[in-house]
Amino acid sequence: MTGHPIPAKPVRVDGFCNQWGLDLTVGCRHACAYCHFQKYQALTLRHEHPDHEPGESLSVEEFLDRPEYPPELYLSPFTDPLAPAARANLERVLQRVLPLSVKVGISTKGVIPRRVFRLLARHPEQVRLIVGLTSLDDRRNAAVEPGCPPATARLANLRLAREYGLQKVTARLDPLLPGVDDAPDQLATLLDRVAGAGAQSVTASYLFVSLFGSKQRLREVPYLGDAVGHCTELCPIEGGMVYSVPLGRKRQTYEWFHRECAARGLYFGTCGCKDLRLTGGGFATACTHPYRSECEAPRLRSDRVRREEGGGRE
Ligand code: SF4
Repeated sequence: MTGHPIPAKPVRVDGFCNQWGLDLTVGCRHACAYCHFQKYQALTLRHEHPDHEPGESLSVEEFLDRPEYPPELYLSPFTDPLAPAARANLERVLQRVLPLSVKVGISTKGVIPRRVFRLLARHPEQVRLIVGLTSLDDRRNAAVEPGCPPATARLANLRLAREYGLQKVTARLDPLLPGVDDAPDQLATLLDRVAGAGAQSVTASYLFVSLFGSKQRLREVPYLGDAVGHCTELCPIEGGMVYSVPLGRKRQTYEWFHRECAARGLYFGTCGCKDLRLTGGGFATACTHPYRSECEAPRLRSDRVRREEGGGRE
């Protein structure tokens, strides 16, 4: 085993609106009980690099030495770029790529330090900030997202983003726990708070559960256990099948979001990767709506679903 940490490499992953992404850590200390991503990423990296030291941080040295970069970078596809072990790497990456006109999307449920905001504020037109907050109930958040800060700290990220002049600020309600998070009065209060804190858009997607054994594990987690009981329908997502809430309930909630967000001056979109059947509604099916002009992945998927529904006929 070498003493060197694993190098961070940009990847293009299905399901992130075809964006380039960069992870800065192996796994994620936020330890959200529902998270499929960080465990998959940690296993994959350790499998690909059996001879490297299994540290928590990835090495960004090779990335910082690159002569060129993708025009847009999503931070981060499988981990949180503001989890404790990621922050130093994040600052170095931002210092390198922002002056080179690379656009960055930062998606976090963590606390964004002011020094990171100061870096972003030098290039506000290049930055899209996505703050994860599905519930104002900190008992729910502590049970389900034990490594993440309370709701007030995440709302403060939104307020500071606007204070520092960022122009593309999204509140991300993902995953929405059915039966726990989706009561209209509860969601209306949350929308009021995120709109009041300065968000311009909202993206929301219901919880989904893998077919391979995760239901049993999730049932033991407070709040998640209740939500899993509502995931009764097989649902096609990018890359496979999962259990989720019935399609009718999902559409009804997303149409509600579409109306209620519009009433508060917010854009709304859901991630089309997380249910390939979600076409033809009034709402957008790209989580990057309205900041990217197109989301290639959902369009390709929609074509595929149409072909499958038509028995393979073009
Ligand atoms: S913050 Fe994101 S990447 Fe980290 S554990 Fe939670 S869902 Fe997974």
